[in-house]
Amino acid sequence: MERTLSIIKPDAVKRNLIGHINQLIEKNNLKIIASKTHKLSKNEAESFYGVHKERPFFNSLVAFMTSGSVQVQVLEGENAIVSYREIMGATNPEDADEGTIRKLFAESIEANSVHGSDSSENASIEIAFFFSGLELI
Ligand code: ATP
Ligand code: MG
Repeated sequence: MERTLSIIKPDAVKRNLIGHINQLIEKNNLKIIASKTHKLSKNEAESFYGVHKERPFFNSLVAFMTSGSVQVQVLEGENAIVSYREIMGATNPEDADEGTIRKLFAESIEANSVHGSDSSENASIEIAFFFSGLELI
């Protein structure tokens, strides 16, 4: 069993897609073990995406991630990290496989509806960023 952090991004929350996305998550055998709505501050978004600080899209990404509420969730299952990345699809929806969340719902390479941790180390860091031990079973 493994855990990963998912964020349903502002573009998807705005379009009432939380239920649709969670249905895909659950259909693919991942369990939503914690879930909350959060509005990221500029500081939080900058810190969360700190690895991309030097990238040309960083300021735009921070503005997008703070443009509305997000739904942050902890997903649990077998190979949850890789499994969720597969369910999400490629970063750019034009490159995403049929049936993936980003192929189905993303608006652009930036407004791409979901985030998922990319390694076991980052999953632990990102889960602790949003959830206290008390909130996790
Ligand atoms: P995430 O980290 O959100 O799960 P990812 O791992 O697929 O996505 P990253 O390379 O980590 O992709 O980029 C983080 C986020 O930055 C992307 O999900 C997207 O919202 C945004 N992004 C990435 N590349 C670009 C780009 N070329 N132009 C605009 N935004 C981008
Ligand atoms: Mg990433």
